[in-house]
Amino acid sequence: MPHDPDTFGGASDLAEDLASPLLYERRDLYHEATTEELAALTHRQLELVGEDPEREGLVKTPERVAKAMQFLTHGYRLDPEAILRSAVFEESYSEMVLVRDIELYSLCEHHMLPFFGKAHVAYIPNGKIVGLSKIPRVVDVFARRLQVQERLTIQIRDAIERVLEPEGVAVVIEAQHLCMMMRGAEKQNSMTTTSAMSGAFLDNDNTRAEFMRLITG
Ligand SMILES: [Zn+2]
Repeated sequence: MPHDPDTFGGASDLAEDLASPLLYERRDLYHEATTEELAALTHRQLELVGEDPEREGLVKTPERVAKAMQFLTHGYRLDPEAILRSAVFEESYSEMVLVRDIELYSLCEHHMLPFFGKAHVAYIPNGKIVGLSKIPRVVDVFARRLQVQERLTIQIRDAIERVLEPEGVAVVIEAQHLCMMMRGAEKQNSMTTTSAMSGAFLDNDNTRAEFMRLITG
């Protein structure tokens, strides 16, 4: 697989998913024609901001940016519900399952600048559970697309809801947005919190309170 370890890491899970034809038809992480076109755009972008794309430090930048862009948006090419379905088990466990502090990196769709933070995901099983590692994978697949934090939160909830049909799902995301921080538009260190809940987390105050206590504790 053509993967440049100097450019960015974290491709091992991706490689695992790409190895499964169920989840993904195209095996290559980078598409050659796309890389070429994106690199040409970046080359022009460098000229437009007043840089010399031919100077030594920038010669390889268009290709690096082209590959980074494809990696940062590889979630479009993966099916989060298929990833969940690949590890569903029948199980009578009916207490809350919580995966907290899931690292999250995404790009805002308004500026294509990063937002990053943590996701906390909980569900209450109704006969079906999912392999725990699949929950961070689902967060990642949706995050590796152009996003707004609100929609990202809802998409994670809905995917788990549809595949597991649980008693309830709760997702909370806390993130900082570089488009706000770098442009000085808002308070520099402000954290944006979004939540999406269903079932017992909406209907039962105690369940919701327990979830909130567990993620803030
Ligand atoms: Zn933005």
